[in-house]
Amino acid sequence: MILPRTVQVVEVGPRDGFQMEKTFIATETKIEIVNALARCGFPKMEVTSFISHKAIPQMSDAAKVIAGIDRSLGVRAAALVPNPKGAENAAAAGVDEMVTFVSATESHNRSNVNRTIAESLAGFKTVMKIAREAHIQVATGIAVAFGCPFEGDVPAERVAFMVGRLLDLGVHAVTLGDTTGLATPPIVARTCEHLLKLYPDLKLSLHFHNTRGIGLVNVFAALELGITTFESSVGGLGGCPFAPGATGNVCTEDMVYMFKELGILTGIDLDELIKVARRVEGVIGRPLPGQVMKSGTRSYRSPLPKH
Ligand code: ZN
Repeated sequence: MILPRTVQVVEVGPRDGFQMEKTFIATETKIEIVNALARCGFPKMEVTSFISHKAIPQMSDAAKVIAGIDRSLGVRAAALVPNPKGAENAAAAGVDEMVTFVSATESHNRSNVNRTIAESLAGFKTVMKIAREAHIQVATGIAVAFGCPFEGDVPAERVAFMVGRLLDLGVHAVTLGDTTGLATPPIVARTCEHLLKLYPDLKLSLHFHNTRGIGLVNVFAALELGITTFESSVGGLGGCPFAPGATGNVCTEDMVYMFKELGILTGIDLDELIKVARRVEGVIGRPLPGQVMKSGTRSYRSPLPKH
């Protein structure tokens, strides 16, 4: 079995995680955490969302958070843009990448954004135009790509069809989201193999949720297919506010720990990342699902018990 030598880990906690939090996290705290994460060595981070203040008040400071990023750390700052207005604001704020999203199924798209898939894709055209004029790349996340809480199985052909439409629109990368944790290794293999056969040059990343406890197993299944970009969130923060039963993302430090033990390079300082995860837990004020942040890595030694 040949696994990739290096992988890219994209941290999404500040967006996918914080957006779930009811209590407003101070802008300075968000900036401090984003920069602490950037210092751990992430090549790219999904920092915030340029969504309407009414829809998600937690993200109302998006432009300020982008402005607060220490650019000397070299992290690529991505932000979610749900519509052309968000794209205008994201461009004005100086994001490095815009991320749009659409669901693989009509019923999930309807429940998520109250639009048909066709309407979402039509909106992307305007977003693409705004991004192109600002020389900003656009990536798209396809939600419920490995299973839908309303419609069940999502055929690989369906996902490939969506990817084709997105590439036609000019998106430069695609993320498959396992929004409610319905992916399993055979589904990951079937979907990704089909996609990579049709689009061998596709810049593909995967975004798993650990809803049923097999998030890292799915990551491993994807590694075996040669996939090298994974999204995750510090401490296992997050979920999707509009998807029933969608609990946390795959935990970043647990995933980085697994990569490290497999001899796969990430460029991420795991010890520093564990410190940030503990800090984030303090900010959130409740235990996070991350495991390695509690146990420490294999190199941690417990003190001998006193007799
Ligand atoms: Zn997520």
